[in-house]
Amino acid sequence: MQAKPVERPTGPLAVDVHSASRQDPFYAARNLSTPVWVFDIDHGRIVYANPPACIMWQADTEAELSARDMSKGMSTTVAKRLKQYQADFEQNDVTFHEMWTLYPNGEPLSTSVAFRGFRLPDGRMAMQCEIIERKDDAPENLRSAEALLHTDVMIALFKLEGRALYMNPAARNTFDMTTCALHKLFADQTDFHVMMFDLDGAGEHRAVSQVTTEQGKRWFDMSAKLCNDAATGEPAVLLTAIDVSELKTARDKARYLADRDQLTGCYNRAFLQRHIDGLTQSSDMRYRLVYFDVDKFKQVNDTHGHKAGDDVLKELSHRAQKVVDDEDIVVRLGGDEFVILLRHSDNEQAEMEKLDRVFGQLSGSIKSGGSHILTSVSVGATIFNPAESDFTTALREADIALYHSKREGRNRYTLYSEEMGRAAREKTEREAEIRHGLKCNQFDLHFQPRLDLRSGKVVSMEGLARWDHPERGIVEPKDFIPICEETGLIDILGQQVLEIGFSQVLDWQQQHKDVHLSLNISPRQFADDRLMEFLRKFAEVPDFPTDRIELEITENVLIGELDVIAEKLRTISDWGYKIAIDDFGTGYSNLAYISRFPLSCLKIDQSFIQQLPGSGPIVSLIIALGRQLGATIVAEGVETAEQYDWLMQNECDQVQGYLISKPGPLKDVLNEEPILLPSAG
Ligand code: C2E
Ligand code: MG
Ligand code: MG
Repeated sequence: MQAKPVERPTGPLAVDVHSASRQDPFYAARNLSTPVWVFDIDHGRIVYANPPACIMWQADTEAELSARDMSKGMSTTVAKRLKQYQADFEQNDVTFHEMWTLYPNGEPLSTSVAFRGFRLPDGRMAMQCEIIERKDDAPENLRSAEALLHTDVMIALFKLEGRALYMNPAARNTFDMTTCALHKLFADQTDFHVMMFDLDGAGEHRAVSQVTTEQGKRWFDMSAKLCNDAATGEPAVLLTAIDVSELKTARDKARYLADRDQLTGCYNRAFLQRHIDGLTQSSDMRYRLVYFDVDKFKQVNDTHGHKAGDDVLKELSHRAQKVVDDEDIVVRLGGDEFVILLRHSDNEQAEMEKLDRVFGQLSGSIKSGGSHILTSVSVGATIFNPAESDFTTALREADIALYHSKREGRNRYTLYSEEMGRAAREKTEREAEIRHGLKCNQFDLHFQPRLDLRSGKVVSMEGLARWDHPERGIVEPKDFIPICEETGLIDILGQQVLEIGFSQVLDWQQQHKDVHLSLNISPRQFADDRLMEFLRKFAEVPDFPTDRIELEITENVLIGELDVIAEKLRTISDWGYKIAIDDFGTGYSNLAYISRFPLSCLKIDQSFIQQLPGSGPIVSLIIALGRQLGATIVAEGVETAEQYDWLMQNECDQVQGYLISKPGPLKDVLNEEPILLPSAG
């Protein structure tokens, strides 16, 4: 108790002892030789004091001591603690022994004090204090006792069966003294049992546990040790507890954020990895790994803006989380890719129904701002059994199945099969082989002549890529172009084709051969800026004959942002290159827009030519359209004299096909002799 310093009395010590009447509630203490006094906690005053107490407090009379306001200068911690004692006295007939430092004249007096409740005549509870012995202990003892009193760390000693033997003030302030049995501290009884189990085994325990306190449930870093009660020698539990609620909340929040995808709020890749690492390999639990992405997500972003793209991802994540069970997890891997890990049972039908349900939830219109975006997803699913395979393999399987869904037209789900895996492995091997072939210059061009129907002369050649495989011989484009397109290898192949083709055109120029060259440009290559860079570089070379080079694009290049495409084509055309539409009639080009593109040639797809004369009306229509556009009309895949004659009669400009020549190495197709014009029958 820190009381205000009092002045040393100047007069003779005159203790005014009350008459020892039986009505005096303090009567029993008056004749004691040790200092005893009663402190009215409510009013902060000493109401009774025996002579030794008055001497100790350096007061001339009990009345003078009673007049002192002891609450002045008292710290709030001490005031609070006194209130706590008062409550404890009310509820329990308890006695405390504590080391206190009193300040009778401003100088500290450390002493051991015993406290117990004292009922005042008006019925209120006060505190009777009795000096047990004056302590002239070693400073370390005094300091350690002081530290125990004032620390915020809760320190308590319990009997093994749970009853509290001692609690320091911090512990008393926090824990409910009346009900304070050890097990009652724990909000979760499992924590208590774990502690007892540890104490039983290792003699100590440490954990962060939730504790029931006077302020409600809070988190404590609890450390417990088995020891012996210094007073009785009986085994006891020494408990130290620090309130870590704020820290835990902050840490939980940080962990929550670290585990979550910021945009959608579902789990992120880092969490998934940890979760997978935590799955026990011995468990026979199986999972359905569902991997999905948004169909044409780039288009959503391009058309509706990135905010709309974000809304789509958020809504999809929300729908996924809503449809799965509590133990299933939804993860955004990144971009528009998500993984759902569903618990899997052996009930196949129930599992398929669940998958149907998940898939059904994901597609549909999504509202963003004022617009509704029709969204669909492609899904690949596989079984993941931690005991049998690793997660990377499962994810790859789901990816293969997802790819399958995409190829089959999107907006569907596919279950992975071994067959799919084999095909994917073959594709991967083929990709590696192509990559190697590109590195070793195994790719070359074959040439197929284009014959002008008026002059009967070869006016142009189409350069067609060939793979001169060391074991398989010449490999045709159908066996490598699609893989190159899918994997992006087309960028390298396209570049090599352009280099071979351009150097061939230079050769012809130097040899004064007036032959033009057509080269095929894939959609992906067309979208790549490196193509423009390459074309510009050559267009800037003086005398380079850009007008002898024609770039064949397919109709699907002409879908999308038509103004941007038209602008690009105009630039290419301004550099002098010619532009042809290959396989014309098979795609979906916008006829209303086509006149805005600088096209020099339409190549009628061979499927129409091979159905001549049945397909005559369509071919005539394309020829008429070509005329309107001022483009040269080329018939592809001409194999028979009948087709040839029809084209001749219907004023097609040029023909290309096996009837004239199959594609082949340059030396085989471009003879010095002009190719003979077949009879028009
Ligand atoms: P394409 O550009 O339409 O080329 C014409 C294809 O038709 C060539 O097949 C050619 O050999 C074939 N062909 C020509 N005349 C006849 C005929 O009378 N009858 C039949 N049945 N077929 C005929 P190829 O060389 O196998 O090329 C196939 C496709 O591969 C090409 O179609 C083109 O789209 C693509 N391609 C070829 N080389 C390249 C290239 O360097 N880059 C890109 N991106 N694609 C290429
Ligand atoms: Mg072509
Ligand atoms: Mg073609």
